[in-house]
Amino acid sequence: MMYQDILVVGGGLAGLAAALSSDPHLKVAVISKVHPLRSHSVAAQGGINAALGNNPDGKDDNWKKHAFDTIKGSDYLADQDAAELMCEKAISTIYELEHLGVPFSRFPGGVIAQRPFGGAGVPRTCYAADRTGLVLLHTLFEHSIRKRVKFYNEWLVTRLVVKDGKCLGVVVYDLATGQIMPIKARAVIFATGGYGRVYLRTTNSFINHGSGIGIAYRAGVPLKDMEFVQFHPTSLFGKNILITEGARGEGGHLVNNEGKRFMADYAPSAMELAPRDIVARAIQIEIDKGNGFENQYVHLDLKHLGEAKIKKRLPGIREICIDFAGIDPIDTPIPIQPAQHYSMGGIDVNAKCSSCVEGFFAAGECACVSIHGANRLGGNSLLDTVVFGRIAGEEASNYVKGSEVMDGNDKILLEEALGVKRGIEEWGKKDSGEKVHLLLNRLKVIMSEKVGLFRNKKDLAEALENISELREDYKRVHISGKCLRYSQELVNIIEFDSMLDLAEVITSGALKREETRGSHFRLDFKERNDKDWLKHTLVTWREDKPQITYKDVKIGKYKPVERKY
Ligand SMILES: Cc1cc2nc3c(=O)[nH]c(=O)nc-3n(C[C@H](O)[C@H](O)[C@H](O)COP(=O)(O)OP(=O)(O)OC[C@H]3O[C@@H](n4cnc5c(N)ncnc54)[C@H](O)[C@@H]3O)c2cc1C
Repeated sequence: MMYQDILVVGGGLAGLAAALSSDPHLKVAVISKVHPLRSHSVAAQGGINAALGNNPDGKDDNWKKHAFDTIKGSDYLADQDAAELMCEKAISTIYELEHLGVPFSRFPGGVIAQRPFGGAGVPRTCYAADRTGLVLLHTLFEHSIRKRVKFYNEWLVTRLVVKDGKCLGVVVYDLATGQIMPIKARAVIFATGGYGRVYLRTTNSFINHGSGIGIAYRAGVPLKDMEFVQFHPTSLFGKNILITEGARGEGGHLVNNEGKRFMADYAPSAMELAPRDIVARAIQIEIDKGNGFENQYVHLDLKHLGEAKIKKRLPGIREICIDFAGIDPIDTPIPIQPAQHYSMGGIDVNAKCSSCVEGFFAAGECACVSIHGANRLGGNSLLDTVVFGRIAGEEASNYVKGSEVMDGNDKILLEEALGVKRGIEEWGKKDSGEKVHLLLNRLKVIMSEKVGLFRNKKDLAEALENISELREDYKRVHISGKCLRYSQELVNIIEFDSMLDLAEVITSGALKREETRGSHFRLDFKERNDKDWLKHTLVTWREDKPQITYKDVKIGKYKPVERKY
C-alpha cells in the first residue's frame, strides 16, 4: 500500500505552500484532481494584501490597521487573534514571495505597487497587473519542482479514513487507470478549495465542487460558518467571469440606467470600495428597483481611466470583455451582476490549521480558521492560502515527528477502498436512472433562488425540502459509460454527494441564524444581533444526520460596533 508521512490534498496555493513548508526530510506528496497549475488559484486577479505602506496614500499603514479592517469587514465574526496573526505575517510573506521570484507590479523607483481594494482604509493590495494568482501559483509550482515535491495529478480523493479520532489516510480514484486505492498517511492536509459550483451563477471554475469539505464532514470533522457565502459584486453579465475589484480599485465607477453612481446612496464615504457584501446587495437592489439594464445588470464604467491605464493595470479584464462580451472597456462600460464567489466557512480548524481529528489539517478556502468571519475582504484570501498553507505544512511536520509510527491499519484502509468500489459497482449495475448532470442543475437553481444574496425563512425551509428530494433522486443515479478511465460522469457522481451535504449545511445554518451579518442577509431579520448571534455555527455529521452547535467568537481589542463605510 502506498505510504506518505504527509499527504497534501490540493495543488492550489494553499496546497503548494503546505508542501513547500513541510519538513524536507519527511516523505511528502501532493494529490490533485487536476494538474496543480489548473487549480482555481491560477484565476485570482486583483491582488494580495499586506501593510507595506508603499502607496503614497498609505504611507502610515501597519499590520494593526490591516487587522482592524479585516475584523470590521468580517462584521466582527472573525476570531481576532487569528486575523492579527495573518496580518502580522503578511508583510514578511510578501517579501519572501518576492524573493522566490513573484513578478509583482512596481511603482516608479522599484518598490512593490499597491492599489486600493474594498473595505480597506488605505491602498494595501499588492498585485501583478490583474494576473496575481497566476504568477503566485507558477512561482510556487516552480519551487515545488525544484524541491522535488512528488505530485500525483488527476487523482480524486473520495474518502478521509479516520479511526478512533485519528487520521489514517485517504481513498483515491486514479482517473487515468480507473483504479480505486487506499493511501496510508500519518498526516493529511486538505487544501481542496471552494464549492462555488453549488450555485448557478459563480465566478468559480468548473472544478470547484467542494468535495474536500464534504469528505471531511462525513469523516466527522465539523464545518464552521458555512451559511456565510460571498457574492462578488462584479461578474460579467451572463458569463459570470470575475471582473476584479481591482477595476474599482483603479477608479472604476458603478453606474445605473440613469447614469448615477448609486453607491452614494449605500456607502457614501467608501462608494465603490465598500466591502463586497454591501456593494453586491446595492447592485441587486438597483436592478430589482428597475434601475438596471434589461432588468439584469448595471454598468462598471472604466472609460475615464484611459487606454494606457486599462492596458497596463487591467489587461486581463480587457481581454475577458473583448473575448466574452464583444466590448472594449476602453470605450464601453462593462455589464456586470453579482455572482457567488467565495466561501467564508469551511472545515473547522484552529490557527494551527489542526482539526478535532488527530493528524488531519486543513488550509486555504476549504478551511475556516476563522479570519474572514461573515464577509471576506478582497485580497485577503490569497494571503490566507499562503500564510495558513505554510502553517499547515509546519504543524503537520511537527505532528509527524512527534507521533508514533502506526501499524496494523492496512485492513481498515483496504475496507474503506472496497466500500468505495462497491458503491461505484452499484451505480454501474443500473441500466437506467437519474442523470447526475440534471441533478446538479436542479441543485444550482435551488441554491441560487432560495439561498442567495437575500434570504428568508420560507425560501430556506423550502430549499431544505428540495435538497432532501434531490437526495432521494440521487439514490437512483446511474453511470451510463461503463469505462472508469477518465469518467467525468463518475467524478461528478462522487462529488455530487458532497455537494448535497454542503447545500444542506449552508441552508440549515442560514435558516437557524435569525439575524443579518455580513454576507448573510435575512429579509425577515434585517439587523445584526450580537446578543444572540455573535457566535460561530458548527455543523457536525453525527448519527447519520447534521447536528448544529455553536461556539464563541474570539474577541480581542476590537469591540463589535456597527459597520459604517
Ligand atoms: C475568479 C477569482 C478571482 C479571485 N481573485 C482573488 C484575488 O485577487 N485576491 C484574493 O485574495 N483572492 C482572490 N480569489 C479567491 C482565491 O483565489 C481563492 O480563494 C484561493 O486561490 C483558493 O486557493 P486554494 O489553494 O485554497 O484552492 P484552489 O486553488 O481552488 O485549489 C484546490 C485544489 O484542490 C484540488 N482538489 C479539490 N478537491 C479535490 C479532491 N476531492 N481530490 C483531489 N484534489 C482535489 C484541486 O485539484 C486543486 O488543486 C479569487 C477567486 C476567484 C474565483
